[in-house]
Amino acid sequence: MTKDIKEIVIVGGGTAGWISALFFSRVQKEQYNITVIEPSTIPIIGVGESTSGRIQDLLKGKYFPIETSPEDFLDKTDTLKRYGIRYKNWNNSNADFIIPFDNPTKYYPKSNVGKFDHFIYAYEKYGASNIHKATFMGQAFEHNVDLNTSGFHSDAHDMAMFFKKIALNKKNVKYIDAVVKEINLNQNGFIESLNLNDDLKIGGDLFVDCSGFKRVLINKMEMGWESYDKHIPTNSVLTFRTPSESSPKTLTTSTALSAGWMFNIPVKNRIGNGYVYDNNFISADEAKLEIENLLKTEINPGKTMSWSNGRLKKFWNKNCIAFGISSFFVDPLTGSSITTTINQIDTFTKQFLQNSFEKTFNELNEKMYNNICIKQSEMYLDVSNLMFIGKNDTALFWQKCSKKEFMTDRVSDFIEMFKHTIPLNEAYGLDYYDNLYSFFLQISLGKELISKEVAKKSLENKGTYNQVRDAYEALNKEFYKAYYVSPEDCEKYELQKGVPYGTLISNYKQRRKIWA
Ligand SMILES: Cc1cc2nc3c(=O)[nH]c(=O)nc-3n(C[C@H](O)[C@H](O)[C@H](O)COP(=O)(O)OP(=O)(O)OC[C@H]3O[C@@H](n4cnc5c(N)ncnc54)[C@H](O)[C@@H]3O)c2cc1C
Repeated sequence: MTKDIKEIVIVGGGTAGWISALFFSRVQKEQYNITVIEPSTIPIIGVGESTSGRIQDLLKGKYFPIETSPEDFLDKTDTLKRYGIRYKNWNNSNADFIIPFDNPTKYYPKSNVGKFDHFIYAYEKYGASNIHKATFMGQAFEHNVDLNTSGFHSDAHDMAMFFKKIALNKKNVKYIDAVVKEINLNQNGFIESLNLNDDLKIGGDLFVDCSGFKRVLINKMEMGWESYDKHIPTNSVLTFRTPSESSPKTLTTSTALSAGWMFNIPVKNRIGNGYVYDNNFISADEAKLEIENLLKTEINPGKTMSWSNGRLKKFWNKNCIAFGISSFFVDPLTGSSITTTINQIDTFTKQFLQNSFEKTFNELNEKMYNNICIKQSEMYLDVSNLMFIGKNDTALFWQKCSKKEFMTDRVSDFIEMFKHTIPLNEAYGLDYYDNLYSFFLQISLGKELISKEVAKKSLENKGTYNQVRDAYEALNKEFYKAYYVSPEDCEKYELQKGVPYGTLISNYKQRRKIWA
């Protein structure tokens, strides 16, 4: 006899918990009753302020129709637009580099030129600090132009509360203010119910662990832990806030320090900062001192916390699934945790969740879903690992990162290949990960892990060097002209308010008739 899945219980009311509730209630219409357990006595992690594409996709209704928009989110939360990431002190020539949230493919002519070759030319000709100028976004930043972007800097509490409010618009979503105390399994090892405080008990068919680093359900369900600590050198953070600057820079700034790195994330009313470090090399007090010396001012420390880098061996076991940082976490350098969380939720709700127990809870589904999540985690592991290698620095932290065994296998293969060529994105991963390859490539160039000779040779071998050069130079010469159009056009394209991105690009293409 088949049994329907009806009751979904989500443990945790952070960003992962509330976005999960949104997906379960919208994607699958109203066939489930969803309960979020959000204890007011246990705070959410309260960090995690940089986001990229996926949050905007969600707000634009790309996953399912939604009663909000990116503008609504900007308006109602402590959020600023984010154009990209500025890396300081990460390479050996001390050249800052910027990774813009943009790719050159959108506005260079369709041709046999590789998707991201313009970055390679920019690096070869002008060095690490000019790579971003191969994109419209990079140009916009250079010229202080306000464009739409796929990135945000947001207050973490605001974000969770924003999604909570929308999720609770549906009558099949409710929440309970309680703490999970005990987990009751049936004889097959499935979760039957949870004991909460105040003698409450809640039963369900599917149980979702969004309890952050507490990993409330996972621990009981024996889902295992694959540690990445061998390849990721940081395990702690000291956070602090500084006042907004008069004209906030809407880049995340990431500065390499003696035992890790520091983030600087301006939101509307303040700047969120943190020193992410390895507590084997530096204490919180020493970290504070290093920051104060660097900033030449005293700071008021906020939270400190520590973690283990890694992922679950099983992201889904029986009727228990984990989303968010309960399932996977690496050093927040790439600012991609919320992105990977949304990928997980989207994949599970659309691909694997069916009405019935039998069609959903089976070994084949578990195996396929777990493989997808493992692949995603390992690709982000590689990108983060790459960030820490190749820095000549006598500090013990950086010495640890320079050991051969620190590199993941794939990063090690790439570094070997970089001695004579730059591998194509096909060598890196699936189409799905195009943006990640772009990120990987820009980090490799920005960190100067590829010589300029190899960069040039890789374009010459493809026979595209001249084409890429002409396109890059034209963008650099003409961006200004293309943007600063007549006052009438300004009005037409709403330039003062922030140009619709597509409009700006097509406007630019029209002006560059030779590309039409
Ligand atoms: C230093 C740092 C920087 C980061 N930077 C970024 C970034 O720039 N970009 C990005 O995308 N991500 C970043 N992250 C990750 C980001 O913070 C998380 O992905 C995001 O906040 C979602 O967290 P969560 O919902 O999984 O967990 P949490 O926010 O921790 O929520 C956990 C929930 O579980 C509940 N809970 C705990 N125990 C129990 C219990 N016993 N019973 C019931 N409920 C319980 C809590 O009350 C809470 O509601 C960063 C993380 C760290 C540590």
